[in-house]
Amino acid sequence: MDQTFRHGYGSCSHHDALLCEKRPNEIVSGRYGRLNPSFVKVTEQDSVFRDPRDLYTGNRDHAPHSHPPVALCLFVRTVVIVTPYILMLCVTLPWFHSGLDSSTPLVISLPDWLIAYEKTLKETIYRTNEEMMAVAVEISRLNVEHKSGGPFGCAIFERDLSTNTCRIFSVGANRVMPLHNSSLHGEMTALQFAERKLQHFSLKTEKDSPKEYVMCTSCEPCAQCLGGTLWAGPAEMICGASKDDAEAIGFNEGPVFPESYVSLEENGIKVTKGVLQKEAAAILNQYAETGTIYNS
Ligand SMILES: [Zn+2]
Repeated sequence: MDQTFRHGYGSCSHHDALLCEKRPNEIVSGRYGRLNPSFVKVTEQDSVFRDPRDLYTGNRDHAPHSHPPVALCLFVRTVVIVTPYILMLCVTLPWFHSGLDSSTPLVISLPDWLIAYEKTLKETIYRTNEEMMAVAVEISRLNVEHKSGGPFGCAIFERDLSTNTCRIFSVGANRVMPLHNSSLHGEMTALQFAERKLQHFSLKTEKDSPKEYVMCTSCEPCAQCLGGTLWAGPAEMICGASKDDAEAIGFNEGPVFPESYVSLEENGIKVTKGVLQKEAAAILNQYAETGTIYNS
């Protein structure tokens, strides 16, 4: 005698049919049906049933067994589908990490907006510390606005000693978090781009040179950048916000002492502090409202 088995849970329904002692000749299944047993005709039906009890019609003796709750069925199915992908990720993620090793070139890059901003400065002639510091502070502001690093900017100028005027030579911005590199402070990126431009490891110029280099940083340098400035050897370092301003919002500037600046001066690097300090500190405070304070 032909029997019809109706069910709404796809392959589960077929399992039910297979378990049925009196195997039906037809299965009316919901849209999730996938497995078609060979001994019955399967009719796919574009409907989803909510209660398994509604799916059985006619002779209820042929209902093979009670169906598990719908939520349990979906949960088991999700686990079955997702588990292989999780296992695959567990296996492949360590491989991706180990793929970045010493053979991979380390790239230090500036954000596109900073490259574009630098181009707008090419023709400008700078005569005062305030004019040059305004560039460093603007870089720090834009870095916060573009969320491309911490609230620190730096600009290095080439000074023509015959006219005592300066032109932009290189720029830098804090890139610590975007490039996963704790050393990429604004000063370090500006110094490194300047040295690459010069194709030399130092900004120090000869005594009879007609030019020298001036570094403007939106905040007094940390311990690392003091050392980096010492080795790079610009003729002058001009600072905006103070070490206290940076530490007030949680940044750790490291072991910086008055003697550190004496060391710079003794190595021929003139230090000027507090230029546009209020404007530079305002950027730090703005960043503190939403930005991440690393090395705190
Ligand atoms: Zn630094």
